[in-house]
Amino acid sequence: MKIICIGRNYVEHAKELNNPLPKEPVFFLKPDSAILRRNHPFFYPDFSNEIHFETELVLKICKVGKHIPEGFAHTYYKEIGIGIDFTARDLQKKAKEKGLPWEIAKAFDFSAPLGKFLPREKFSDMKNIPFSLLLNGEKKQDGNSGNMIFSFDRIISYVSQFISLKMGDLIFTGTPEGVGPITKGDRLQAFIGEEKLLDFGIK
Ligand code: MG
Repeated sequence: MKIICIGRNYVEHAKELNNPLPKEPVFFLKPDSAILRRNHPFFYPDFSNEIHFETELVLKICKVGKHIPEGFAHTYYKEIGIGIDFTARDLQKKAKEKGLPWEIAKAFDFSAPLGKFLPREKFSDMKNIPFSLLLNGEKKQDGNSGNMIFSFDRIISYVSQFISLKMGDLIFTGTPEGVGPITKGDRLQAFIGEEKLLDFGIK
């Protein structure tokens, strides 16, 4: 399986990093070795001094597809979860300055903590899914899928023009504003609505 991540999908987050707003979805990949499951702790890596959390709604792809029309995209996922797109912001800044790829800053081991998934039937409106992140009990991110620049269906349709989607693939749909650094000893808790789906520590 693969992990596809959407960048710059919320206006206020693009602004906080001084990025231009995209006209089409921006995406990058993480390998399966990036997944951190079952609330295991995240061990701060030696190669960065500025790891940021980015809290994102995650779609789990349920069937194979290529060139998926936007009108059928909703049939390609049955579960929605929450995850963290850990980003080595210091390495990403250097890569951006040199026009280099982002993998070193985005695709490292355990850079994609993943929470429990919920069935999509639980949600009546894909454009009104609230989610949030607590850092040491304090709310740092408060997002809603309604604020995405590109909807779930548009993302699936766009990405599948270039890359075939397969069962079990994950799509991280972008982070709202409020991203920030983690330090050893922190605790991160992520919610969809009132339901806590992810809870882990930084070591
Ligand atoms: Mg992200």
